[in-house]
Amino acid sequence: PNIEYELLRRRIYSNTNEFWYYVRSSLKDIQKKIDNPEILENIEQVLSLGAEHKRSLLHDINHLAEVDGYEEWRKKESNDLSNLVQKRFKFLQNPQDCTIAKKLVCSLNKGCGYGCQLHHAVYCFMVAYGTKRTLILKSKGWRYHKGGWEEIFKPISDTCTTPEGESVATWPAHSETQVINLPIIDSLSPRLPFLPLAIPEDLAPRLTRLHGDPIVWWVGQILKYLLRPQEKTADLIQDVINKLGYKRPIVGVHIRRTDKVGTEAAFHKLEEYMIEVDEFYKQLELKQKVDVRRIYLASDDPKVLQEAKTKYPEYEVICDPKISKTAAVSTRYSDTSLFGIIYDIHMLALSDFLVCTFSSQVCRIAYEVMQNYYPDASSRYKSLDDIYYYGGQNPHNMVAVLPHEPKKIGEMQIKVGDLLGVAGNHWNGFSKGRNLRTNQNGLYPTFKVKDKIETAKFPTYSEIYV
Ligand code: GDP
Repeated sequence: PNIEYELLRRRIYSNTNEFWYYVRSSLKDIQKKIDNPEILENIEQVLSLGAEHKRSLLHDINHLAEVDGYEEWRKKESNDLSNLVQKRFKFLQNPQDCTIAKKLVCSLNKGCGYGCQLHHAVYCFMVAYGTKRTLILKSKGWRYHKGGWEEIFKPISDTCTTPEGESVATWPAHSETQVINLPIIDSLSPRLPFLPLAIPEDLAPRLTRLHGDPIVWWVGQILKYLLRPQEKTADLIQDVINKLGYKRPIVGVHIRRTDKVGTEAAFHKLEEYMIEVDEFYKQLELKQKVDVRRIYLASDDPKVLQEAKTKYPEYEVICDPKISKTAAVSTRYSDTSLFGIIYDIHMLALSDFLVCTFSSQVCRIAYEVMQNYYPDASSRYKSLDDIYYYGGQNPHNMVAVLPHEPKKIGEMQIKVGDLLGVAGNHWNGFSKGRNLRTNQNGLYPTFKVKDKIETAKFPTYSEIYV
């Protein structure tokens, strides 16, 4: 397919959602200002039939991708691209002579949770790939498993795992230095072009055609390499899948509570998540009969699992079988909690659709891993708060494709071609950001912009093919 077609198809899908966010939210605002029961009832009817319109449109756009004749191409291209980068990763990580190999050393023990530490490792991998240095992951005494990474996941190299070398220095170091220690992304100075949201320039044309959010695909590929399970880990996961009666269709729901709420994220009621689950199933029911509405529910708060089973008896609620015995907070950084979070993320990633909060790294990891199971899963989620981001990323810019004149307080002017640094989507048709031309901060209709895909000149690993 030509790239314009793929971009348009995806744009119509996301802007159908944006259109509905706008209409729904505006009508609900009007409802709050009136008390005429007849008008209120009218608005309810518009909201109800409007939602049906939206579902029908989204269903048709999905269907279009099934009948346009390109679905086989998408699957093949997705496989080919994945094989290509996995081959490069393997090459990078297995130098012929480790005693002279250039290395980048990364310590897994960043003082944060599992998702955050995985993202730290992914960032290290991006720098290793960008600087063509074999990544050495230091993980002895890991807070989640004292024995280290390699007892849970396959070693990231078969030939080169020691951090020793002729010369050692901390970043920034001379390019001749054999071993460079990498600090966490927030302390990296000078910064590098290889950080998110940049994707490798040589892959960009293929990736932007195939995938709605190339950086998420790129992160997903690195996670695919890093998270190759040891046999024992794979068995444990398979065991859980068998025990739980995991079946499709299934919606993954992640509810992050405990220490996150009030400090890094707002509280969201279970009902808010379930509205999105209900929407997913209503739309799916246009395509197929759904006998059982199933969710996989993951949370750091066991109470919410009980709440879901009580409040939603019409749903089959699947969750971690050990959860009720786990005092989530106290065991968080230990061996016992490691398998819980590993298969929670795995199950969430396997879902048909994901409902969660992108403020949580657990939710973002699940979304990233999910990309490994579909040619393009970039629209298979609903985040109740943030848009997708990568901790420590360079500015996320959008490009205006339609002009806008402010109509209400808070809105700002945009001209076609303006670059906007996006801060967030309010899920009411508007996003907030800064116009880099006028330096104004304000709201603008989300459908009037598109993502600016960032690229960087990563090495192309051409020697693999000669
Ligand atoms: P964030 O704080 O949500 O952004 O993500 P982090 O991964 O940095 O830290 C949260 C930690 O809480 C995780 O690593 C887990 O240890 C725990 N946690 C959060 N949500 C879940 C969940 O759904 N299941 C399990 N088993 N643990 C969770």
